[in-house]
Amino acid sequence: MAVPFRRVSKTAKRKRRTHDKIAAPTLLKCPNCGEYMVAHHVCKSCGYYKGVKVL
Ligand SMILES: [Zn+2]
Repeated sequence: MAVPFRRVSKTAKRKRRTHDKIAAPTLLKCPNCGEYMVAHHVCKSCGYYKGVKVL
């Protein structure tokens, strides 16, 4: 919500921003080729997703 910046204390602002960080993507080994891949994404090295050739 838009609030004049002096109305929000440093602590409240910092506490809100603790949730702003982005998490590192989950890396797992591809069950098809064994390469590391990002979870819920097509494998970049063999092009398989859930056992199906996509690329
Ligand atoms: Zn793969």
